[in-house]
Amino acid sequence: KYKQKIPISGDDEVAQLGHSIQLLGEQLQEFEDSRNDFLASVSHELRTPLTYIKGYSDILNKDIVKTREEQQEYLQIINKEASRISLLVNDLLDMSKLQAGQFVLNKQQANVNLIIKKVFTTLKPAAAEKGIILSLDLAEDSPEIEIDVLRMEQAIFNLVENSIKYTNEGHITLRSHVNNEFLIIEVQDTGIGISPEDLPKIWSRFYRVDKSRTRSTGGSGLGLYVVKLIVEAHNGVVRANSTENSGSEFTIYLKI
Ligand code: ADP
Repeated sequence: KYKQKIPISGDDEVAQLGHSIQLLGEQLQEFEDSRNDFLASVSHELRTPLTYIKGYSDILNKDIVKTREEQQEYLQIINKEASRISLLVNDLLDMSKLQAGQFVLNKQQANVNLIIKKVFTTLKPAAAEKGIILSLDLAEDSPEIEIDVLRMEQAIFNLVENSIKYTNEGHITLRSHVNNEFLIIEVQDTGIGISPEDLPKIWSRFYRVDKSRTRSTGGSGLGLYVVKLIVEAHNGVVRANSTENSGSEFTIYLKI
């Protein structure tokens, strides 16, 4: 739609304006393409669980299920798929608020260690359930910095939740340390790791390394995208390092 190129000659002010308008048109086109990709992904993500729910409820409706166990099994699938939709919708809402830039960071002076401890306490039972040892290694001299406590908690939560999801045995360590410029938060696991080809892509919306595997772990593929939005809104940087079959390390750098 915006791709039509009008030849512009000369370099006077009118020509410069023409070039600017052309550039704007190209940007609009890019925006529209990415919006279409996004809508296609969301529709796809919703359709899969809905297909399950529709299919299994049809079977239950037809009264052809013989045993109570079978009935129970189908109800559980329906329940699980409904939870998946609910999780996806929550993530989408989070993302749209963050992305629209309409979310105002509610900043206050806070100690990151307290946030890390809260995430630790919340997720320790989930780790223990999988036989994973979750431990803390916090900087003693961590200064208070200006952050949106709830948002930062969500970012750290997403990272630790992922580490639990993608670790089958071993350790996860939550670390904080300080250097001249940055307060550094690290989440390190001994999990399944990420291949070098996948590593740059994990930050994209809806990207999941292995669709079938993550399907059973119930991710939406939005977790890391939301982490990046939150950290960048704080003018911070987030990086991932990983070795396949050995473990991953996610690091958030916040300016002091
Ligand atoms: P999801 O909801 O699928 O977990 P995320 O955006 O949080 O989506 O993560 C994107 C993908 O990155 C995941 O599907 C997974 O393949 C990979 N990933 C994220 N964290 C880890 C980790 N700690 N270890 C291994 N793989 C990970």
